[in-house]
This record gives sequence, C-alpha cells and structure tokens, in this order.
Amino acid sequence: MHITLLGTGTSTGVPMIGCRCPVCTSTDPRDRRLRTSALIESAGGNVLIDAGPDMRQQLLTAKVRSLHGVLLTHEHQDHIGGLDDLRPLNYRMQSAITLYGQQRTIDAVKSRYYYAFSENSGGSSRPNLTLSPITAWQTLTIADLTIMPIPITHGALHILGFRIGKFAYITDASTITPDVCAALAGVEVLVINALRDEPHPMHLSFNQATEYVDQIGPKRAFFVHLSHDIRHADLAPRLPTHIQPGYDGLTFEVSE
Ligand SMILES: [Zn+2]
Ligand SMILES: [Zn+2]
Ligand SMILES: [Zn+2]
Repeated sequence: MHITLLGTGTSTGVPMIGCRCPVCTSTDPRDRRLRTSALIESAGGNVLIDAGPDMRQQLLTAKVRSLHGVLLTHEHQDHIGGLDDLRPLNYRMQSAITLYGQQRTIDAVKSRYYYAFSENSGGSSRPNLTLSPITAWQTLTIADLTIMPIPITHGALHILGFRIGKFAYITDASTITPDVCAALAGVEVLVINALRDEPHPMHLSFNQATEYVDQIGPKRAFFVHLSHDIRHADLAPRLPTHIQPGYDGLTFEVSE
C-alpha cells in the first residue's frame, strides 16, 4: 500500500495565524504543516485517516478521486473539521462515504454536522455520510485492507490508533500502553505524534515519542502533529536515523 502524509501539524496548523516565529516564517516547505491526516491507497481502494479543517486542500493536492472510507481517531476539530468537504466525492462516486470511529466520536460528528443527518436538508448541500461505530481490538475491513483499531490515551480521552498490515498510525497520544506496543510488534513503518521538546498533558514530546518508537521497534518512524516550536531542518539531525520528522506530502510504501 502507498501512504501519503497529507498533514503533519498540530491543531492550529503551522504557520500559526499571527505568529512571526522563525518556524512560522520559515521558507522551507517542510515547515508548512497542515492538520495531521494520512491517505492510504491500496489496489482495492483509498482510505483516509482523519478529516481535519485542511482536508479539502489536502485531497486536492493528493488528487484523490474516490474514498472507500474515513477512519476517525477522535472527535477533536483538527481531526473532523473538514467532513463537509467530502460532498464533491459524494457527487462523483454517487454514494455515501462511511466514517468509522468510536461511538463517542460518531455522536460528536452527528451533533457538529447535524444538518447532514436532518430530513430537511437538500441533497447537494450536505455531505452524504454513513456512520459505522468501531471499537478497539475489533478488526474491520475497508476495500482490501484489514484494519485493527488500537486504544490510545490522549490526556483524559480514549481515542484510536490503527494497525494496517505492517503499518501503524498513532496520533494525539499522550501514553501508549505496553499491550498496544506488543500488538504493534513487526510493524515496518510507524507514524507517531510528537509535539515539541517540552512535555504536554495531551501529546507526546520528542523524547517520549522516541522512547515509544524504541519499544515498538519499527524499521522506520515518522513524527506528525508537530508544533511551530522547531524547524524540520533542526529536528531531523537530532533524531536517530530510523526516525524522521514527517512533512506534508511525504509518501512511502508499506507491505500489507
Ligand atoms: Zn490533534
Ligand atoms: Zn510560530
Ligand atoms: Zn486531539
């Protein structure tokens, strides 16, 4: 399967509105971080992980023409704020798009996008979404992909990560339990969130994320959900060679 990091930034995106710091004013395109999201393309179809407020631009840049499902890690707005922009794919595919998330996330989608589920809304003015509740450790299939949702702690919130074959995707983690690390044994590529150097109650720091990469033991790992605290060019040389900061548009192949 072919994976693209569509966005690698924290909830505000980088640059952050109004900020004149060296990262927000950097001319390095790798320092322009849209909200964290990834696209998985396999022979059988395309799956999007999270649909934040930058989703429209991300799907245009990646030239996405169809989606067979959207996996939602959790309901924070930087992960679901772009769902209305699925409408053109509804028109193109002439079908609903299924969102997969925990019941709490599904409930949040229903209330934030109430008009999409209202009998009174016109067909083209609302996204056509089917909601499919999932729970950690219960395997699901989308197109030809077998997906294992894994439980992740995000501050006080219990959210989902995903293992798909030899690929694992974890965003917004603050801690990862030993049983999850064990379940990720054998993963070739791990995407994991790493906010900044300073600890944060809801997100892993660079050091914490590096420790989890060591515990899980993938061949390669990419950091996402990065803040405006560090430039790509300053972070990359500080990390072990098998760990790299992700950047928007980065692509790689992983065995299924
Ligand atoms: Zn987030
Ligand atoms: Zn800044
Ligand atoms: Zn979050």
